[in-house]
Amino acid sequence: MTIQIDIFSGFFGAGKTTLIKKLIDENVYSKKITLIENEFGEIPIDGAFLKKYNIEIKEIKAGCICCSTVIDFTNTLREIIKSKETERIIIEPSGVGKLSEIVKIVKKLEEDDDIHLNLVIAAVDVTMYEEFTELFSEFYGDQISHASTILLSRTQNVDNAELGKVVSKIREINETASIVTTPWDDISGIDLLGLSEADGQQISRDEDLSAFDLEFDDHDHDDDDHNHDIFTSWGIETPKIFPETQLRSIFESLKDEAVFGKVVRSKGKVQIDTVNWVEFDFVPNALEIRASEPDEIGRITVIGHDLNQAILDTVF
Ligand SMILES: [Zn+2]
Repeated sequence: MTIQIDIFSGFFGAGKTTLIKKLIDENVYSKKITLIENEFGEIPIDGAFLKKYNIEIKEIKAGCICCSTVIDFTNTLREIIKSKETERIIIEPSGVGKLSEIVKIVKKLEEDDDIHLNLVIAAVDVTMYEEFTELFSEFYGDQISHASTILLSRTQNVDNAELGKVVSKIREINETASIVTTPWDDISGIDLLGLSEADGQQISRDEDLSAFDLEFDDHDHDDDDHNHDIFTSWGIETPKIFPETQLRSIFESLKDEAVFGKVVRSKGKVQIDTVNWVEFDFVPNALEIRASEPDEIGRITVIGHDLNQAILDTVF
């Protein structure tokens, strides 16, 4: 039986994991699935969050699956395919994974193995579009221009004019993708996927891609060898208790670029008092804190550009 492959890409904090959790929670995937998870940062967070779900998770931690761990990634894919124990593979690249490269790898395997590249999704935080396009076009633009479906996140936080502006900018670099603007809480996972799968023909757009690249990557791009080193991550495993008010004020302060560097993302799970735990997700325009199960230890990760690690050590 043909194994379906879905790729869920998206820049840091766009909501890739939230989306996958939503689909699993709503039982959109009835068949046995395997998730290949590639996280940026030394402290793996998402793998731990997803542990409670009954799915097979393969974490690739030592680097990016589109470049430094491409062999590991390809072998992992091959092993899963050969084992015949799964009917669908979900690939979640890190925030800076180049979607074009990952699509290329899967397409190559498609020539020999009984697999089908089904969904190529990019999650895009509409509130961060302008800023991330400006700062990180190499990765951000690549994901947007190579996706067959673009799911805009946090659309409930902007007005229609702003939303319309972002949609038309996305159209300039990707003419054919389905663009979903409905807030994720208001749409079922089945409908999200239905929209995506209806569009399955559009994934092989290789001939158009060079034009997009030229148009988009007009700076910070010396050659094909992309450089993830512009991002660093800081992480900690900690038994410390962070009352929620303290947590909120820490994240408010992280917006100060002069002090911390450019923080683009933070996530983790900590204890807020002697019994209660929370998971948190931070991007510069949003902080989400939700109740969670206790864990063996708290974990915090911060990702950004020119991060001041010493100061981060002192605030957490
Ligand atoms: Zn890479």
